[in-house]
Amino acid sequence: MKKVCLLLCVSLLGFYNLTGVETSMSSCFLVPSDPLLKKQAVEVPEDEILSQQTQAIIDRMFEIAKGERTDTDKAVMVGLAAPQIGISKRIILVDIGVDSDRKELGQLTAYINPQILWKSTELEEGREGCYSVYKCLRGIVLRPKTIKIKAFDRQGNQVEQEFSGMTARIFQHEIDHLEGMCFPDQIEKQGKGTLQWVEDDEFSSYRENWREWPVKCSNELWEAMKTGKPYSPPDAQPG
Ligand SMILES: [Zn+2]
Repeated sequence: MKKVCLLLCVSLLGFYNLTGVETSMSSCFLVPSDPLLKKQAVEVPEDEILSQQTQAIIDRMFEIAKGERTDTDKAVMVGLAAPQIGISKRIILVDIGVDSDRKELGQLTAYINPQILWKSTELEEGREGCYSVYKCLRGIVLRPKTIKIKAFDRQGNQVEQEFSGMTARIFQHEIDHLEGMCFPDQIEKQGKGTLQWVEDDEFSSYRENWREWPVKCSNELWEAMKTGKPYSPPDAQPG
């Protein structure tokens, strides 16, 4: 897998350097401290959606996501934003049919220049993880339960769709990436929610018990991770 990622990235790196698109890539996914993850991504001009370059970016994103969706007993990829792989453009993939446990996957779909037109006042808590933070860092994030979005599909058609629950959550998580935010930033911004620490072999237990997960993280740990400073995993807290 590492080899495949490296190959993909090497070709992406070469390609985008040639075309002048901003990139900062040493592996498939940027490390949490990469400055590109904190930048607002650039809109894709409407007349460039069908271009070879944009379509190639979308193809790469699908290819990378496919490799991260093979084992639903582990955390799987249900969304991806172009900045996460070093491409500062407003392109995201969203699984529009995944169930709330993320065990039954749906169809990954590409959206270009997505915008949230409307959010419900009803909020919902949900667990989130991300390929742009250290994989043990997870969290409970409060987000509007239902949203209406506007975007272009990869054929260049404008679409307006309403989503609830998990899909609405994925959209909001990925659009945050386009604004330079990861989910711990959203928790910090709201002053609500919880950062948690989950080791790889604890994931199936976390899936069942995420609301009461005993190992919590401080915002300082995320700040250290984000700025590339050393950090140590939190200790389990009693009760
Ligand atoms: Zn993410």
